[in-house]
Amino acid sequence: MLTERSIAHVVLERGEVANSWRRERWDSLRLLTPNSQSRLPGYRYQGDDPDGFMTMAQVVDFIAGFSAAIDAPVRTQTEVTSVRSVDDGYRISTSQGELQCRSLVIASGACNVPIVPALRMAVPSSVASVTPFDYRNPRSLPEGGVLVVGASATGVQLADELRRDGRRVLLSVGEHVRLPRTYRGRDVLWWMEASGIWNQRYDEIDDVERARKLPSPQLVGSPQRATLDLNALHTHGVEIVGRLAAVRDGRALFSGGLRNQFALADLKMNRLLESFDEWALGVADLAVGPPERFEPTLVPQAARLHLDLTSGEIRSIVWATGFKPDYRWLDVPVLDRKGRLQHEGGIVNAPRVYAIGLPVLRRRKSTFIHGAEDDARDLVEHLARSL
Ligand SMILES: Cc1cc2nc3c(=O)[nH]c(=O)nc-3n(C[C@H](O)[C@H](O)[C@H](O)COP(=O)(O)OP(=O)(O)OC[C@H]3O[C@@H](n4cnc5c(N)ncnc54)[C@H](O)[C@@H]3O)c2cc1C
Repeated sequence: MLTERSIAHVVLERGEVANSWRRERWDSLRLLTPNSQSRLPGYRYQGDDPDGFMTMAQVVDFIAGFSAAIDAPVRTQTEVTSVRSVDDGYRISTSQGELQCRSLVIASGACNVPIVPALRMAVPSSVASVTPFDYRNPRSLPEGGVLVVGASATGVQLADELRRDGRRVLLSVGEHVRLPRTYRGRDVLWWMEASGIWNQRYDEIDDVERARKLPSPQLVGSPQRATLDLNALHTHGVEIVGRLAAVRDGRALFSGGLRNQFALADLKMNRLLESFDEWALGVADLAVGPPERFEPTLVPQAARLHLDLTSGEIRSIVWATGFKPDYRWLDVPVLDRKGRLQHEGGIVNAPRVYAIGLPVLRRRKSTFIHGAEDDARDLVEHLARSL
């Protein structure tokens, strides 16, 4: 888009093109968005399986293919170590030298660092602590039982994989977003897109701060197009426990209240399905099946409230507790007290600085691969005017 407007630019990448997909994902991961949603400006999935899900190798090929197709001016192996304001622009220090630019687009990702709660420090040293960035496959963990903390996309996928590996797995569940993989015969993310929900703009959402903090949905991209909610995990033999509230004297303490937690997730899922149904009523000749409703999430009869971490029952903890961006290189005062980038729909609070790729940046779909196009068009329009 910058090329189309003849705006000279350069893309600085500390690793290689598609670095996060090459370096920061586990072996079995596939996209949870279907192939039909693998789209970048003027470039889309061309295969014959629009409902399938790309492996990481396929995602890397897809993004590298796009970069080659647009002849993107990427400088790889160039890490940005600092950005400072100077007269009429920004001074960029990199591992390959200095540059100066008038405008800056922060596209360094929303998931640079795994978030690990401070209570990790109280975990006995006999139990290995692993983040999704350290995890490649079950062999990344010591033999034995595993506690997976967090039941969003990463947590449910890793709990399932570890259970299939024959491990004893406990999954600690806090707030979560339940979704079926398919609804009325179509992929649930097809519904999100077709019904217009993903296109909702950030300034039309009642509580955008909350929307930006929502956990990722309990979804997996598998050839079987299977649903991976808590009921499925329970059936596979994963033990469900409450939110990890504390670690004290070698014991992990879990919150009660799973019933409320589950009821809330079921309620929100059903509201979403109702909104799909309402939208479908207004579309003539829509080729979908009849409305469906799913079993409520099963509440374990007596979920345990503590686990002795020194007993050997579990040997490792996987912290599937989310990710955050890393802005340690950004020396322009645009972060809030909590280190979050302050922006209005991607327009950052500093002259000609923009951000892209963050949750609900301009639309609900902003954080997904196919969400970049509309956001980029809006922001490039603004950037061109401001130059
Ligand atoms: C586990 C996981 C699964 C996901 N699954 C999906 C999915 O199924 N579908 C989907 O649409 N989205 C998915 N996402 C979201 C996905 O991350 C985004 O869709 C997409 O990667 C965002 O692209 P990006 O370029 O904004 O960020 P990134 O892919 O994170 O790219 C940012 C780039 O900036 C580079 N960088 C960072 N800091 C610096 C620096 N200081 N100097 C130079 N370079 C730097 C990084 O090396 C990286 O290459 C997933 C995310 C995660 C974490």
